[in-house]
Amino acid sequence: MSNHIAFIGVGNMGNPMANQLVKAGKNVKVFDVSPDVIEIAKQSGLNVIGSMEELLQGATTVISMLPEGKHVRSLYLGDNGILKKIPKDCLIIDCSTIDIETSLALGNEAKKIGIKMIDAPVTGGVMGARIGKLNFLVGGTDEAVALAKPLFDIMGQKILHAGAQGSGVGVKICNNMSLGISMIASAEALMLAQRLKMDVKKVHSIIKEASGNNWAMTNYTPLPNLTEGVPSNNKYRPGFTAAMMKKDLNLARDAAKSVDASTPLGKAALDIFSKFCEDGDSETDYSGISKMIGGDAWDYPFDPKGKD
Ligand code: NAD
Repeated sequence: MSNHIAFIGVGNMGNPMANQLVKAGKNVKVFDVSPDVIEIAKQSGLNVIGSMEELLQGATTVISMLPEGKHVRSLYLGDNGILKKIPKDCLIIDCSTIDIETSLALGNEAKKIGIKMIDAPVTGGVMGARIGKLNFLVGGTDEAVALAKPLFDIMGQKILHAGAQGSGVGVKICNNMSLGISMIASAEALMLAQRLKMDVKKVHSIIKEASGNNWAMTNYTPLPNLTEGVPSNNKYRPGFTAAMMKKDLNLARDAAKSVDASTPLGKAALDIFSKFCEDGDSETDYSGISKMIGGDAWDYPFDPKGKD
């Protein structure tokens, strides 16, 4: 019995999360399907396992951090799905940002065979993962969440328990729809101030004290030289890419459709981010949407793909 954590998907987020666990003294075995990602994982000191059998044998927790619902479905529930190979006393923590339907399907199948599963997507991005300051948005029973808490405490700073299994991804989707909309709103307000030839610094400092304020305006300001340490000060290098925001807005659109909810601003935000991605900026930080909003009035450093 090796009592280890099996970490599946060690890309941009999974690698630093797994490394935080290792640094805290946990026995972590990792697995990924991408040879490039495996190479990076090895270089960063992670214990990469090539066989799924070896990965799962003796695991006490399986953590997955995969791109989309289809990857989670095929990993756990596909023809060669691993769910049936996971030890019965093992806890599954899926940290991927995926659709609610897939998360619930996995949770229900796991429950049928007596395995506890929680959904725990994160906010805080790659930087948050590197310094162990992610926020976990969690869905699951109190008992399962309590089991996961020591691991969340290592990888994160806040555990926000939203309710039953599936509500972690639910709250993540609602949150990111609101964030996508408010990023565009903040960019519009600041670019309008610029067009009006106002002092943008002053406008920003006043809005922060007034009723038009929001998280993006204060903490992730889409124009440079207004807030320290944000991607707009670094030529819009990510951060959180426009492609990721588009993906989350797509999840919000699908979730809204499934319950006949009206989300006109969510749809508008999806259209705007889709156009931005189609125009070649999918790997730009999502706050770079301000360039598209600014149009010909845009006058700020923008070099999202630069390396310096
Ligand atoms: P990524 O593409 O860098 O990493 C995902 C990894 O999963 C890849 O290395 C891929 O090879 C691997 N993978 C896919 N299918 C697999 C399988 N069947 N078995 C093993 N490995 C498999 O993505 P990321 O940026 O690390 O994001 C992961 C999740 O976190 C996404 O759902 C994303 O929306 C969410 N997220 C990302 C950020 C961010 O800033 N990058 C922030 C918050 C949330």
